[in-house]
Amino acid sequence: MINFNEPTLSGKELEYITDAVTVEHKLCGDGKYTHKCNQWIEEQTGAAKAMLTTSCTHALEIAALLCDIREGDEVIMPSYTFCSTADAFVLRGAKIVFVDIRPDTMNIDENLIEEAITEKTKAIVPVHYAGVGCEMDKIMDIAKRHGLKVVEDAAQGVSASYKGKALGSIGDYGCFSFHETKNYCMGEGGAILLRDPDKIEEAEIIREKGTNRSKFFRGQIDKYTWVDKGSSYLPSELNAAYLWAQLEACEAIFNDRMSKWMLYNEILGSSDVIRERVGLPYIPEECKHNAHMFYIKTKDLEERTNLIRHLRENGINAVFHYVPLHSAGAGIKYGRFSGEDKYTTKESERLLRLPLHYNLSLEDVEKVCEKIISFYKVN
Ligand SMILES: *Cc1c(COP(=O)(O)O)cnc(C)c1O
Repeated sequence: MINFNEPTLSGKELEYITDAVTVEHKLCGDGKYTHKCNQWIEEQTGAAKAMLTTSCTHALEIAALLCDIREGDEVIMPSYTFCSTADAFVLRGAKIVFVDIRPDTMNIDENLIEEAITEKTKAIVPVHYAGVGCEMDKIMDIAKRHGLKVVEDAAQGVSASYKGKALGSIGDYGCFSFHETKNYCMGEGGAILLRDPDKIEEAEIIREKGTNRSKFFRGQIDKYTWVDKGSSYLPSELNAAYLWAQLEACEAIFNDRMSKWMLYNEILGSSDVIRERVGLPYIPEECKHNAHMFYIKTKDLEERTNLIRHLRENGINAVFHYVPLHSAGAGIKYGRFSGEDKYTTKESERLLRLPLHYNLSLEDVEKVCEKIISFYKVN
């Protein structure tokens, strides 16, 4: 079976976990490995501060707290995203206002954001789908003119950029995921990125159960206390040690994914029948992506269902995702769609994700392409 995903094991993960246990004697959060990871993210992105969290979902929750989202506030985001993007804000009592996507990148349509803004709007949450950046210049300009916060859901965007700026470092806050389905992983985990240094202390307090423990560890105060609201958002050093091995090997992991992405693009893009009948990913000029995902677009839902079956019969597991949030039970309860759903539902029913992970071989990629092409030749 060619699996859709397998968690990356690049080499030194177990060695570093052993070191955390037997040498560092530290299993809880914010030890040597967490600091190495934080520093790596800051160096790679230029964020004023980056902190590992227990998930991207939790990083989004911290961002919602930092934005001071309250009951009745509105938050704008695409409907084509993972439920966590909305959940983090719904937990604070926000109403979610969904905006249609662009069919070329599957990202929020920047030209539809402004008409979704009301007096209650507090924040815009662009999601960089497949590690391809949203039109951030335009989004930042809208936010500035309307006094809104921008939280980037860059769960899929680690090591990707827009106009030379790292995804996650452009908005007020950025959220990364290191879930095992993402490019670099620690099982479950994520990070919050702060663009501005004046938010560091507040973010540290929220992440550390509402205490000023970080200040205490830096020797800036004598004892730490409960100073504000917060929760427990620190991952264990065991997870951070696993992640550090991957961040150290980031170039090899990046190049490995990119070579497979390029091979998919090359084989499928040079087949006449595919070019005629299947949509392939589009990368805007100003974006550098990270080969997080290779997807294709079938004609419609029925064709996708048949293709998935055909691939499965040939030992290949290809998957789709995201029932548009506005059409899901919770989405109906907590949100509304602004304007017309021209592309969100239609494009979500066409999209199919192909296997892409560290253990996948180039021969596997060739086989997947061959089976897709053979499907279109007989159907
Ligand atoms: C994976 C993902 C998340 C959630 O990440 P976790 O680390 O699993 O919480 C959120 N948003 C998007 C767009 C994602 O792809």
